[in-house]
Amino acid sequence: MKDQIKDKMGTTGLIFNEPLLWEKGSPGRKGLSLPRRDVEEAPLDDALAGDGPDFPDLSELDVVRHFTKLSQWNFGVDSGMYPLGSCTMKYNPKTNERQASIPGFAGAHPLLPESLSQGALELMHDLQGYLGEITGLPAVTLQPAAGSQGELTGMLIFAAYHKNKGQQRTKVLIPDTAHGTNPASAALCGFKAVGVKSGPEGILLPESVAELMDEDTAGIMITNPNTLGLFEDNIRQVADIVHQKGGLVYGDGANMNAAMGIVNFGDIGVDVMHLNLHKTMSTPHGGGGPGAGPVCVTPELDPFLPVPRVVKDGKVYRLVEDYPLSVGKVHAFYGNFSILLRAYSYILSLGKDLKTASQYAVLNANYIKEKLKSHYHLPYDRPCMHECVFTDKHQQEHHVATLDIAKRLMDHGFHPPTIYFPLVVSGAIMIEPTESESKETLDQFIDAMGQIAREALECPECLHESPQFPKVRRLDETAAARNPCLKG
Ligand SMILES: *Cc1c(COP(=O)(O)O)cnc(C)c1O
Repeated sequence: MKDQIKDKMGTTGLIFNEPLLWEKGSPGRKGLSLPRRDVEEAPLDDALAGDGPDFPDLSELDVVRHFTKLSQWNFGVDSGMYPLGSCTMKYNPKTNERQASIPGFAGAHPLLPESLSQGALELMHDLQGYLGEITGLPAVTLQPAAGSQGELTGMLIFAAYHKNKGQQRTKVLIPDTAHGTNPASAALCGFKAVGVKSGPEGILLPESVAELMDEDTAGIMITNPNTLGLFEDNIRQVADIVHQKGGLVYGDGANMNAAMGIVNFGDIGVDVMHLNLHKTMSTPHGGGGPGAGPVCVTPELDPFLPVPRVVKDGKVYRLVEDYPLSVGKVHAFYGNFSILLRAYSYILSLGKDLKTASQYAVLNANYIKEKLKSHYHLPYDRPCMHECVFTDKHQQEHHVATLDIAKRLMDHGFHPPTIYFPLVVSGAIMIEPTESESKETLDQFIDAMGQIAREALECPECLHESPQFPKVRRLDETAAARNPCLKG
């Protein structure tokens, strides 16, 4: 089995151990030469005297090799498939990076007067229009810096809307298949998050919502597609129930790469929705940002959007603060502009093919689902959207758990998928191949997952010892989190 893996991927490669910089070099070694002194040598004054910081003595080459080696310990979507469900780790075309570094944009100061930033303002104005068209919700703010901040902005809009009607509602309904940030955002805004159980098919049942929806409930937050990768088929009926009681519908659109050009969220009853530009629209993400989580709303909610807003006034673009019902400002200046630039470039470069991208995202996930369902337990066996969720139920009979399967995948050269999420299924393995992987890569992944399933039958203990080939083998996860060892 081990030999098979080695032959196949050649994953181990030339990976060098690398000590800390403090353990490298030798006293007196130098990374640069200063020009010859042309003044008399003089002692430092008292404040600066002493031993100084404990910097190691290194040459330029020591430093270059050190950081180059560390960079090679990394794994990213530029190195291989990264099927991390819910995160959309797709490949971002380099051309969008190039546009983001055009000097006129990259060097623009956010305090430049409007007259000197017409290009940037026009770009933001047009991007708002495109996002409005893609979601079917035409009023847009680009300010929020992340999906979760978009959610908070949406909740502020819920509160402002009800307040403007002279009401103060206290609760928000959140299905058990929602992303974890949803209840957190509702709570941060002062609402009580009320859980809604989804039905046997993994999607919301209108009757469960009808039972809980009342006139003290500000609305519902629906992740759609939900965290099981399933489309909420009953969303129109659910929206009607919520609207009848005066509530609003929030759509978590972080996974819009499943629905671009296919679903009009305005038509299916969503009032407020955020997008994750750093997932769907070509910004590399991870490590905490930066990102962008624009919020799109119905015309009725337009007056509540954050300020300043970019508006077109005749032929001129302006930043306008004068919206008395606005929830205010949610980000310094106008949001993370360079992320907006990448999204704009991504949308223009794909045009109508945005829809094709979504179709591939859905096709790829369904392909994996169908190919792997004979090996792994599929709790909801129905067409999925951009991701599919398996569990370790069959492998558990042989004492092999989701964690072992995920670790073994590294031996095959794949980044593990998201595991133990969503919480509604036990031992979840959540796979999002994204639209950017080829059929050959998907087949290799399927083959690796198939081999792992066979190994679980034949040699369960081998899986407990995985991964075998990466530089760092199985870690004690608890100790690793509690006492991180940051040395190589
Ligand atoms: C990623 C994600 C979020 C949170 O987005 P951040 O930009 O990480 O704050 C919210 N909802 C869903 C469904 C997501 O996948």
